[in-house]
Amino acid sequence: MRFIYCPHCGAKLTKKEIGDEGMIPFCERCQVPLWDMFTASIIAAVVNENREVALLRQNYVSKTKFVCVAGIMKIGESAEDAVRREVKEEIGQQVETLEFIKSYPYEKKEMLMLGYKAAVKKQKLALSKEVDCAEWVKYEDALSLLREGSIAWQLVKSVIERDACKTTEIKARNTVAKAKADVVH
Ligand SMILES: [Zn+2]
Repeated sequence: MRFIYCPHCGAKLTKKEIGDEGMIPFCERCQVPLWDMFTASIIAAVVNENREVALLRQNYVSKTKFVCVAGIMKIGESAEDAVRREVKEEIGQQVETLEFIKSYPYEKKEMLMLGYKAAVKKQKLALSKEVDCAEWVKYEDALSLLREGSIAWQLVKSVIERDACKTTEIKARNTVAKAKADVVH
């Protein structure tokens, strides 16, 4: 949101030069700058030990394409707590570990989405009323169920690629370890 009037007193804003930020909307009466505002939210690729990701569908968003767990952060809540809360509320899973992946500006909705990988131990999905359907989907099938280029698609793609890198690293390390062991014997 870009302010024209002061949300505190209703006065029309002027512009004032603030440090390196340039000319910023300013309320002369309250003596405060009114920075452009956006909503902070989270989006999570919820994955389990079987290389599956939980995808959900909400009819009001799309009847065919799936999305990830996502939600708006509350005032005073950390992004990590918001992920744990939304994962529990929307699909009934307990987050074991969290990894921050990337932030995604969503300009159309004036949002900044903080993207996480949320690892859980697989349990039956228990859906909130907001969610019409949800499924555990194998990594290799996940991207085709998401709208290509969407934030959910970008996040899931990053998580899958990272996991593939890690698997290759572990395999390489095991090969080196085995080679060393073979030399000793
Ligand atoms: Zn004011």
